[in-house]
Formats: sequence, structure tokens, C-alpha cells
Amino acid sequence: NVDHELREAGVREQARLVFLTNEAQLGDFGVDGLTFEHEGFVTHSELWASSLFRERQVEAIVGAHVERVDEGTVHYETLDGEHHSLDFDFAMLLPPFGGVPLKAYDRDGEDITDQIFAPSGFMKVDADYTPRPYEEWTVDDWPETYMAPGFDNVFATGIAFAPPHQISRPRKSPNGTVIAPSPPRTGMPSGVMGKTVATTIARKITDGEDAVPLKASMGRLGAACIASSGAGLRRGTAAAMSMLPVVPDYERYETGRDLHDTRGEIGLAGHWLKLILHYLFIYKAKGRFGWHLIPE
Ligand SMILES: Cc1cc2nc3c(=O)[nH]c(=O)nc-3n(C[C@H](O)[C@H](O)[C@H](O)COP(=O)(O)OP(=O)(O)OC[C@H]3O[C@@H](n4cnc5c(N)ncnc54)[C@H](O)[C@@H]3O)c2cc1C
Repeated sequence: NVDHELREAGVREQARLVFLTNEAQLGDFGVDGLTFEHEGFVTHSELWASSLFRERQVEAIVGAHVERVDEGTVHYETLDGEHHSLDFDFAMLLPPFGGVPLKAYDRDGEDITDQIFAPSGFMKVDADYTPRPYEEWTVDDWPETYMAPGFDNVFATGIAFAPPHQISRPRKSPNGTVIAPSPPRTGMPSGVMGKTVATTIARKITDGEDAVPLKASMGRLGAACIASSGAGLRRGTAAAMSMLPVVPDYERYETGRDLHDTRGEIGLAGHWLKLILHYLFIYKAKGRFGWHLIPE
């Protein structure tokens, strides 16, 4: 978007544009990258994202952990353990992912925060939080009902639930700094999880103890995401991506995901699609006539 806006304003050649990310490689997206079919070829999201950056002359600094931001300078450490700094005129910094720092107490006033929340502040649900190496991670580690253990009336979905671990291979610098992207809980899976839990709660009200909770694991759910790379009805572009499932399942799919439903495209159509979804979702959020027919 910044590249697009600078070009539209006719000042692109005056700006050096840098994308600094904790992803070890471009196109990781926090989901360990994607293998997908693009115009008949099987390609990897690293190649796809890298060529988009190159085309737009955006420099990328990967595997970087921001340590400090001073007036006009960002200081960061890279995966090789080196420390660097980069001067800027304008910067946008995404803060680390974390939950709201809430405390939890049981009915006797005992502090049960550690039992309810992960150190990141996200709520523990029905995931398997046993620490395991990357090679042993499976889709079965991921939660299905989003119910807090021991509390069948407490749920956490979307951003709020504590993932069992990352999706991308975890990486540390020689100095011990963890440099890795968080698992994304984007709009579509968050919406599906929310609807699943709402249905479970409705069932609990109607069926009582016999209610069977619905399931929506990120190891089964797909996600579609449209990232704007420039608004405009004639010259806008957006990158449209879909993946199934979000958490790769190497037992079911050779590349971890269904090649047919895992795709990436960039172009004007993406912008139009994003615009249409924008109006559809606002219509849905307002609960207007037929809202429930619009999917998550
Ligand atoms: C800039 C940006 C662009 C994005 N673009 C896309 C995209 O193109 N496609 C896509 O799929 N996803 C996108 N996402 C991600 C998507 O918006 C989120 O994944 C999704 O909104 C998560 O849904 P959620 O319900 O878990 O959390 P949220 O939508 O964040 O909802 C949490 C709600 O809880 C409320 N809240 C917080 N604390 C409290 C409290 N103590 N008490 C009561 N209420 C509280 C908040 O006000 C908020 O309304 C984007 C996110 C950002 C930030």
C-alpha cells in the first residue's frame, strides 16, 4: 500500500522502502510458507512474495527482531546474532502479539491466572500444550471446541485463544532471542470459530448436559485473505490468498495443504473482491435482512 500511494503521489523515486520482518523468509506468513499452484505451476510463497517485493522495489530484512526504537532509528537483531540499526523518516511498527493482561481467581480467591492464561496472555483452551520439538508437531495439537479446560462455559476464539505452538519452524539467534512469527488467526477462521462457539452455546442452552460441542480446528479449517496492495477502482491491486488447512497436515497432504484450494493471485480483481467483501461484511455486522446467508 505504501508503495502504491507513493507512486500515485509521484514521489516513489524519492523514498527507500524497507520491510522488516521476524519471518525467516518472505512468504512465511506465520504459517511456515505455502506451496500452491499458480497459473499451472507449483510454486512456493517465498518465490511469490519475493518477486512481488522485487517488482515494487521494496527491500526486505528477514529474520529480524526489533529491540528498540529511538527517534528516527530502529535497532534490531537478526537470526545470525548480529545487531543492526536502520534510520527512518516514517515507520509503522506492529507490536508483539499478546493477550489482555487479565488476572483470574477461583471462588476461594486463589490466583489461577497460570491455569487459565498462557504467559503470552492468551487463554488456554482444549489444545495440547505439551512442549514438543517442531518435527513432532501435528494438527491434533490444535484446539477444536475452544472451551477452557475445566470450565465448559468459558471459551476463547480467534486472536484470544492460546495456540499450542507456532506454525512456522521456531528459530533463535545465537544470543537466545526467539525470532519467529506468531500463528495468524485471521478474519475468516476467527469468524468460523466464533460461529462454532456461538452454536455450541446455543446447543448447551437447548440440549443442556447432552449438548455436543461443535468443532473447528485450524488443522481442518481453510482461510482466505485479501491483502490490499493499493486501493483504487481502476489501478488498485490486492493479493488474494487461500489455504487449506491453515495448520499444515503432512499426513493428509504431501505439501501440508490441499494444492487445489491453496492459491495466491495478485491484481485488480483482488481489490474489487476486497471492496465487495467490505460492504458485505458491514451489511452482515449490522444484522440486516438475510445477514446469515453471508458466510464468514
Ligand atoms: C490492520 C489489519 C488488517 C487485517 N487485514 C485482514 C485481512 O485482510 N483479512 C483477514 O482475514 N484478516 C485480517 N486481519 C486480521 C483480522 O482482523 C483478525 O484476525 C480478526 O479480527 C480477529 O478476530 P477476533 O474476533 O479474534 O478479534 P477482534 O476482531 O480483535 O475482536 C476482539 C474484540 O474484543 C474487544 N475487547 C478487547 N478487550 C476487551 C475487554 N477487556 N473487554 C471487552 N471487550 C474487549 C475488542 O474491542 C474487539 O472488539 C487484519 C488485522 C489488522 C490489525
